[in-house]
Amino acid sequence: FSKVDRDRSVPEKKTKELDGYVGFANLPNQVYRKAVKRGFDFTLMVVGESGLGKSTLINSMFLADIYSVDYPGPSQRVKKTVQVETSRTLLKENGVNLSLTIVDTPGFGDAVDNSNCWQPVIDYIESRYEEYLNAESRVNRTAQSADTRVHCCLYFIAPSGHGLKPLDVEFMQRLHDKVNIIPVIAKADTMTPEECSHFKKQILNEVAQHKIKIYEFPETEDNEEKPIGKKLKDRIPIMAVVGSNTIVEMDGKRVRGRKYPWGVAEVENLEHSDFIALRDLLIRTHLQDLKDVTNNVHYENYRCRKLAGLGQDSKQPRAYFKNPLAQLEEEKREHDLKMKKMETEMEQVFEMKVKEKKQKLKDSEADLQRRHEQMRKSLEAQIKELDDKRKALEAERLTWEQTNGVTIDELRRRSLERDQG
Ligand code: GDP
Repeated sequence: FSKVDRDRSVPEKKTKELDGYVGFANLPNQVYRKAVKRGFDFTLMVVGESGLGKSTLINSMFLADIYSVDYPGPSQRVKKTVQVETSRTLLKENGVNLSLTIVDTPGFGDAVDNSNCWQPVIDYIESRYEEYLNAESRVNRTAQSADTRVHCCLYFIAPSGHGLKPLDVEFMQRLHDKVNIIPVIAKADTMTPEECSHFKKQILNEVAQHKIKIYEFPETEDNEEKPIGKKLKDRIPIMAVVGSNTIVEMDGKRVRGRKYPWGVAEVENLEHSDFIALRDLLIRTHLQDLKDVTNNVHYENYRCRKLAGLGQDSKQPRAYFKNPLAQLEEEKREHDLKMKKMETEMEQVFEMKVKEKKQKLKDSEADLQRRHEQMRKSLEAQIKELDDKRKALEAERLTWEQTNGVTIDELRRRSLERDQG
């Protein structure tokens, strides 16, 4: 293209100022009203050994006794095998409804042998994807039920100060391409600030070393906002949290915290833990992004794996889905087998028919032979009869010639002479 052509082919877009109010400036409000009316849903999964403070943290986070609604006390929840339990709560804040589903995994990491304890978690996540995919593939998609996919998984790391355990690495490696993982250091009040920041660095190194992809908080305008105080970059992506369900008095103020003889660890104090930062990022600023990443990355991965038939865990070969190509191959094999069966059946029928025909020919040949024999016999009998008759006639002629003294030939000759003369 010459410059002129290029200019003509791409008309310049100019922003036009309107002379009056048309109304589309109200579009965001329409979307807002619709979204508020519809409400929001969010599914949060918590994974970690029992006793790390998962239920306490969730209750602290939503300022509601979410866990006590459906769950018995912590001691009763310690199970030998990993269970996946869900509890759904409808929360309301300033007229906005949030349908919150908490997925708990009691028993995770509690056994002596923890191999495969991530499998029930993977099964749960994938079955939610499967449900969603099935709902999407239905003819009538208007009946699409609520989004029950797991949007975020809070993985609780024990405050050991000694880095990740093999189970932590294994779990995150197996789950990182299936769900948004946010690792959190549990019970951060058991460590000094120096120990805590050292522990965070150690974990980050191990995460990088094992190529674990944890959820990356994208930059948003809100990130820059208060009340995160201390630089957010220093807090993410691994946050150290403190949870408590008790309210303590501090300088006349009532705060959520843990009271020790030497002081109070305040849950909502950013100097004491990253709890507020986590809650803000998780709910106030990044809830929608977590849902978007779940839909656009993890669910899309699942769909691709399913459609490509590669629904296998990279480490544990296990066929979740049927490969369409393999299915095609199988159908072809089935078709070939069917054809072969039909061919043999047809050959059998053909052989039977040939046999029948041969038998028929044999029968008719024997019949012909029999009739031929009959005919021959009857002809012979006729010949014999004629012969007998001829002999009888001969004998009769002889007797007549002797009786009359003249032969028949003589009489015939005389009669000829008379006729000529
Ligand atoms: P879960 O089994 O992981 O759900 O753990 P729980 O929430 O039931 O907590 C187990 C125990 O740890 C309880 O006695 C809690 O009071 C205590 N706990 C919970 N969060 C914290 C915390 O942040 N710091 C400390 N020191 N203890 C905590």
